Amino acid sequence: MDLYEHQARELFERHGIPVPRAEVTDSPREAREIARRLGGRAVVKAQVKTGGRGKAGGVKLAPDPAAAESTARQMLGADIRGHRVGTVMLAEPVDVEREFYVSYVLDRAAGGFLAIASAEGGTEIEETAATRPEAVARIPVDPARGVTSAVAAHIASAAGLPARTADVLIRLWQVLVREDALLVEVNPLVRTRDGRVLALDGKVTLDDNARFRQSRWGAEPREHTDPLEAEAAARGLTYVKLDGEVGVIGNGAGLVMSTLDVIAGRGARPADFLDIGGGASARTMADALFVVLADPAVKSVLVNVFGGITACDTVAEGILGALDAVHLTKPLVVRLDGNNAEAGRALLDRHAHPLIEQATTMDAAAHRAAELARAA
Ligand code: GDP
Ligand code: MN
Repeated sequence: MDLYEHQARELFERHGIPVPRAEVTDSPREAREIARRLGGRAVVKAQVKTGGRGKAGGVKLAPDPAAAESTARQMLGADIRGHRVGTVMLAEPVDVEREFYVSYVLDRAAGGFLAIASAEGGTEIEETAATRPEAVARIPVDPARGVTSAVAAHIASAAGLPARTADVLIRLWQVLVREDALLVEVNPLVRTRDGRVLALDGKVTLDDNARFRQSRWGAEPREHTDPLEAEAAARGLTYVKLDGEVGVIGNGAGLVMSTLDVIAGRGARPADFLDIGGGASARTMADALFVVLADPAVKSVLVNVFGGITACDTVAEGILGALDAVHLTKPLVVRLDGNNAEAGRALLDRHAHPLIEQATTMDAAAHRAAELARAA
């Protein structure tokens, strides 16, 4: 879950990272009052979960409270890179001398975290990283050791940041660990003309898997940007949209993961990860088929079930039951094994639907599903 800038700012503040004074509002009138409280001038910042706001007109300096009100009125409801502005943050302007970039991000491949830092922060950081990668330091962080003062000093010196930024580097790591974040980013981290170090803009991505131990996050449901993922979540399914053409439905995360691998091994690409879980009912199977068939990229579907708690005849009933609700337009390859496999296969055979085929092994099923996807 990505946070808004003002939420990231709050977390930074709570962990002792210096931030400019700021308040959030959805009302232009109140924006004027806030600007007054901040001393008259204010930076008006559209709260949208997308980068490059500044360049898109989402960050503007208002020289007085009246300008803050009119700027807020302009921004609220406006569209910034496809995101509607619901609230604005008004921040006390600061006199920036230099802009830095610092972040910690999960590095899944390395099984650790990566500190990314640059003495050339600001709105051009992506450009800098692409054209002059040497200007951006990338330093692995051992999650067990964390960012100690020695590690922080190392990151700062590798990136050419002033030694004084080390304290922010240590605290930013604490934000990541204590708040269960996958990404914490400050861009820009600035040095002001009067010598202070301040986090001017922040991005935080929280790890949704930690929701159970972060009561502060509230019960707000996970946000799904993909409409199929939203549909699947509404039906209580564990579904992840992927880029391929072979729809996948299986039971148990391990089996589904293996199924993705076997499909890739057959030269095709899985269109999704869908785990109907143990003890899945006929209803669950119908929901799963509905979601997978709703994906226009899907050319064929592979149902791979090893019957344990879920008996295969129940799965077969689910597939057949789904045909009442879902019009099958794409070929379905079914592999049933385990508990009541014979009964399940017999049920499907009796029905003899022209678009349903069976395979007895996972590999044969993947081979056939890949072949059907190619032929479609
Ligand atoms: P982003 O475009 O979404 O990354 O928005 P930022 O909050 O990072 O603002 C973009 C740029 O505006 C920053 O890199 C700064 O150069 C500038 N900026 C934002 N707030 C201030 C401020 O208080 N004072 C000054 N001088 N510049 C600011
Ligand atoms: Mn920024």
